[in-house]
Amino acid sequence: MLLFEKFIHSGLIQIKDLCYEVIPGFFTSGSIVEIIQQNFPDEKPHEIKAAYDKILRCIPETWKILLKSINPLNTESIPKLLICLENGREVPFLGAVTKLFYKLLLSEMFETPTAEKHWEENYPSINFTKLYSVTNQNSLPPDCHCLNFRLVHRAIFTLEKLFKFGQVVSNTCKACGLYTENLLHLFALCPKLTPIHNFLKDMLHNIFIDYPPDVVNLINYEELMIFGYLGSSKIVNTYFLNFFLSIARLCIFKTRNLKVFHDKEIDTVRLFKFTISKYIEYAYTYYKIKHQQQIFDKYFLRNNSLLRIEDEKIILFFLNT
Ligand SMILES: [Zn+2]
Repeated sequence: MLLFEKFIHSGLIQIKDLCYEVIPGFFTSGSIVEIIQQNFPDEKPHEIKAAYDKILRCIPETWKILLKSINPLNTESIPKLLICLENGREVPFLGAVTKLFYKLLLSEMFETPTAEKHWEENYPSINFTKLYSVTNQNSLPPDCHCLNFRLVHRAIFTLEKLFKFGQVVSNTCKACGLYTENLLHLFALCPKLTPIHNFLKDMLHNIFIDYPPDVVNLINYEELMIFGYLGSSKIVNTYFLNFFLSIARLCIFKTRNLKVFHDKEIDTVRLFKFTISKYIEYAYTYYKIKHQQQIFDKYFLRNNSLLRIEDEKIILFFLNT
């Protein structure tokens, strides 16, 4: 019998209540904390752990040896379960690690996104693992995550798509009135967006200024606008670069929506400058409150000639250009 009142009221009354049902051994202190806190949420974890330690120390060593050697558990015997893998190999259940179960779950649940086939045909060298990590990168605001996700999965209702569904009478871009509005046109090719693209190209030139020209020449602007920068670099802050491109995409999409749904035109460069400075400010304040300035440094300041902090003020190189 255990003599700790809160253990008893949580159903931990006998030694067998502290043992796993299927495998030999005692619960971890973390599990005990969880069990006790279900009934006593204010009970401090270190106090529960100290009490549990005392209980474990009281259990005779011979019992512990017995627990490992024979099977004094709540089940008749330890079931000999095997996991059958796809290649016909069998792995003992007891020796399997969580990673294996996670992989099995993914193999059962995961379906290759249909958009991958389209992108592979048009951009054969694309690295999808990198693409998904860039589109979901940590420092992005939620609306950028959402738009990036829709973009890489081709889930944006362009006029080309809506026309196919019979929802609009024309698939021609409302901004320029010249070409079909598909994803590439919307985000990278529309001539009406020349001012924002010129501005972005100018900034990208600054970002890549220390790169050898032959490497820069290989970077395709349209791919940058659709996917982001999928390479790695020691001299460019790729987190900031992808943040920068995500905000640009968001502003271009907002401009387009205003034109399509409200027939209004706005200055996308101004919108971009305003939006990016606001989001950097939010991120700066957020990481400061959480005392995680080093994370802000990693995502925004390191290797970044466009941004610096002076007297707690954010200075963006291009705001007055
Ligand atoms: Zn256009």
